[in-house]
Amino acid sequence: MSKSASQPQSTGTPRERRVSRRVGAIAESATLKVDSKAKALKAEGRPVIGFGAGEPDFPTPDYIVEAAVQACRDPKNHRYTPAGGLPELKQAIVDKTLRDSGYQVEPAQVLVTNGGKQAIYQAFAAMLDPGDEVIVPAPYWTTYPEAIALAGGVPVPVLADETQDYKVTVDQLEAARTERTKVLLFVSPSNPTGAVYTSEEIRAIGAWVESHDLWVLTDEIYEHLVYDGVDTGSMPVLCPELADNCVVVNGVAKTYAMTGWRVGWVIGPKDIIKAAGNLQSHATSNVANVSQRAAIAAVEGDLAAVEEMKTAFDRRRKKIVEMLNKIDGVLCPTPQGAFYAYPSVKGLLGREYDGTVIDSSAELAEYILDKAEVAVVPGEAFGSPGYLRLSYALGDDDLVEGVSRMQRLFS
Ligand code: PMP
Repeated sequence: MSKSASQPQSTGTPRERRVSRRVGAIAESATLKVDSKAKALKAEGRPVIGFGAGEPDFPTPDYIVEAAVQACRDPKNHRYTPAGGLPELKQAIVDKTLRDSGYQVEPAQVLVTNGGKQAIYQAFAAMLDPGDEVIVPAPYWTTYPEAIALAGGVPVPVLADETQDYKVTVDQLEAARTERTKVLLFVSPSNPTGAVYTSEEIRAIGAWVESHDLWVLTDEIYEHLVYDGVDTGSMPVLCPELADNCVVVNGVAKTYAMTGWRVGWVIGPKDIIKAAGNLQSHATSNVANVSQRAAIAAVEGDLAAVEEMKTAFDRRRKKIVEMLNKIDGVLCPTPQGAFYAYPSVKGLLGREYDGTVIDSSAELAEYILDKAEVAVVPGEAFGSPGYLRLSYALGDDDLVEGVSRMQRLFS
């Protein structure tokens, strides 16, 4: 949420006042920026290794692609369909949610969106009035504060660093609560840190939300990427008393390697889902039917593909943590979920590199890209300078080569 130099002026003639203040205040997604810079350098022929993108390197499983191919040929999918999602997909999401989380909901509590991102935007738009505060544990995924601000809300970051495994405590949340607090944003497993809250921790946080009559938006997009057998679960299942004030965000992107298909969803109480659906009916209407048909095949199918990806991610996770910790000045806790490593690089800052002192993780990330041709995202993008985020959803060989380059750069 950065206020850029190009922030629009509030005075002048209508023609001089150009981009609105509300939208002009939105920063470009830092993660997509790093990714596109890395891809542009690659296109120039430079051997860049990208740890920037938050997407699995696997193709979408064949049976899902096949369902889409068939859907393309069926003219019923060439038309507008209900804005809030195909009834068959809503039912499949209801069934999947019961199967995977033990959470029983009805189709009227489901809204199918253009990815988890739209789910988050619309959920906040449906929940927030101007000035309502949302507590956002930091390091946070770069989109949350922007979505909250665009909806008129005020993001209130609460920082949990590596000394607490990047997990906020109830005491910290309570210290951040004011009479304007309406929602707690909760995500586990977390992007960018890979932190996973235990069932016990989730119950404690849920009890705090409940005791103050707050709402919670819980982002479960990485639900199937949990390692080391951590005992965890879904917030409204562990805290059933919260269900009427709980909004769950999920999608097919990470579980089925379907980032490009753009299918996500929100589950929530019917009034919120209806309001968010009305907004969607004017903003974007139905998600592409071909993608929705593919999503039906995905969520109705088994979890074999994600199990296979998880085995690869787990192997890469151990490798990247081990290799990063060999760099003097880098401290990388072992993440227990998602596919991100989030090392502290504070020990590398304040030193001179090629005659220039590097003081921030943002400068360090640029230096690494320029000198080692390795793309990483600086902690500034996640509300916590002094860290880097490395996605390990890339091939094993690239991973080893990329971190080896960093090791050589800082040796
Ligand atoms: N939530 C989190 C925590 C994410 O990391 C992402 C993707 N980076 C999303 C939601 C949204 O995913 P999509 O819009 O691709 O479904």
